[in-house]
Amino acid sequence: MDIDYQSCLNEIYEETKGLLGKGKVADYIPALAEVDPNQYGICVHTLEGQTYYVGDAKTPFSIQSISKVFVLSMVFAALGDSIWSRMGREPSGSSFNSLVLLETENGKPRNPFINAGALVTTDCLLSISKNPLKDILVYVRNLANNKYINYDSVVANSEMETNFRNAALLNFMKSFSNINNDVNEVLNTYCHQCALMMSCEDIAKAFSYLANGGINPFNNKRLLTLSQTKRLNALMQTCGLYDESGEFAFCTGLPGKSGVGGGIVAIIPKLLTICVWSPELNKHGNSLVGMKALELFTTKTGISIF
Ligand code: GLN
Repeated sequence: MDIDYQSCLNEIYEETKGLLGKGKVADYIPALAEVDPNQYGICVHTLEGQTYYVGDAKTPFSIQSISKVFVLSMVFAALGDSIWSRMGREPSGSSFNSLVLLETENGKPRNPFINAGALVTTDCLLSISKNPLKDILVYVRNLANNKYINYDSVVANSEMETNFRNAALLNFMKSFSNINNDVNEVLNTYCHQCALMMSCEDIAKAFSYLANGGINPFNNKRLLTLSQTKRLNALMQTCGLYDESGEFAFCTGLPGKSGVGGGIVAIIPKLLTICVWSPELNKHGNSLVGMKALELFTTKTGISIF
């Protein structure tokens, strides 16, 4: 069956734009509070190489927690299953920046997509890379096939100045010997990876390797084994949207990852990737319009991995 993706995106855009104004832009990172809340874009990128857009799909935005997938991919490829001795693979059921479970679980985060787990992941990268910020940039630019992708230092510094919670998570985990590098260096790298600026188009393209069995379709380079690709998609499906992961799986049935910049990316293995961006968030820190748009996409197209 041939699906008219462009008409589908146009319809979704029209049906959901009335939701703009109902969420709230993240303001705990001061620089993100400045973002124009009315921006909204969607991009679909197929493994056959076609790209479809609607709205502000080419405007770069702060990818925030979407970066957790890239860094996890880098360290999973380099260190293999040894990373699982330092973090789990279970949904946490708590908010992305929660400290609650860490105490009873001896400083071992539930999964790599809550902040605690992502900080451990970044710590792993610091242990294997001489220049982590450069390595992340090269990795992401190759994935998105865009050499202009960069960090927004204003956003990174703004988060550094107000980052008491992530500093607490790091120090707490260090007390359990689950952080090996200097806390400030981990924090600085983490805030920069979150401050990567990418558009819906960049992100949809950059996630193609996860729909493509671990191979970057832009240069045919294998980044993850088939088994690692399966595991990363499974983690996105169960933990990618924090304490709204169950609802996202219920509504879209897809692996996905969100960030407080308002982006959500979802993967349809062997077929396509889709990224939606609208900066206003719901109470779980996920894009309010993005959640609805992705639900409509799988409903209208009838595509399902189940
Ligand atoms: N940089 C953000 C933080 O650590 C990322 C959170 C997110 O996107 N959910 O709070």
